[in-house]
Amino acid sequence: MRIKINGRRYSFTPNKNTIYVAGALVVFILLGFLLHSCNGWSIRGAKYEDVLLEYPVKQVRPCIAPDGTPTADYFTIYPPKDGDKVIYLTFDDGPSANVTPKILDVLKKYRVKATFFVLGHLVDKNPEVIERMAKEGHAIANHTYTHDYDYIYSSPEALLEEINRTKDAITNAGGGNAYADVIRFPGGAFRDERAEYKQMLIENDIPYANWNCMTGDSETKTPIASDLISRAKRSSKNVKGTSLVMLMHDAGAKQASVDALPSIIEYFKGEGYRFDVIKRK
Ligand SMILES: [Zn+2]
Repeated sequence: MRIKINGRRYSFTPNKNTIYVAGALVVFILLGFLLHSCNGWSIRGAKYEDVLLEYPVKQVRPCIAPDGTPTADYFTIYPPKDGDKVIYLTFDDGPSANVTPKILDVLKKYRVKATFFVLGHLVDKNPEVIERMAKEGHAIANHTYTHDYDYIYSSPEALLEEINRTKDAITNAGGGNAYADVIRFPGGAFRDERAEYKQMLIENDIPYANWNCMTGDSETKTPIASDLISRAKRSSKNVKGTSLVMLMHDAGAKQASVDALPSIIEYFKGEGYRFDVIKRK
């Protein structure tokens, strides 16, 4: 065989070994392409469950009495009573088949009720978990169907469609009685953020709830329980007012949240808080 490189001619005779090596190289390259594209697909597929980063918590949404301004903020519509120390444990981005039942086990053991801001597409996937939440007295709130920022924040109509779709999914799964009729914006919506979406909620009489303290379990892919416990304590100390709304996650990768939960409950019980759910009165 003759080949020409930079004007110079070379000749060589390919033997069996050369053909094997060349063949192996082609298979290796093809495999590389295949694995790469599979990996890309699985990351996209898992994006709702595992790798969500919420915005870092900002200052507490003030729990002030209504001043006459229309608002969709749950804690402005239902301000806390003076001197009542309440903590609302909230879990976003579930229900997952593996982690959520373990969270429910811990809550049952401590006789504590929580609020689950669920994703409609996971409700369709894990309806039995929704049924259990409802049966055990938890509140099931709405966190959109897809959690896909590009779609849900493409227009207020798109967000409303996602909210309605999720509400239907919860009802179909047997969680209708426990439906809280409250939403949480994916990524939150503090102060003036997402103003046109809040306006849409006012027009449709749907309150939303942010959070004012957190465990930080969505900030790394592999959170450590002891870090979550100390973050929960630390972040709750910055809260002005008496109601704590604790942000946690029960997506499939959040085993650390299960491990941290008993200590978190024991700590806030010790601090004199009672546990309540966020649910439309
Ligand atoms: Zn979320």
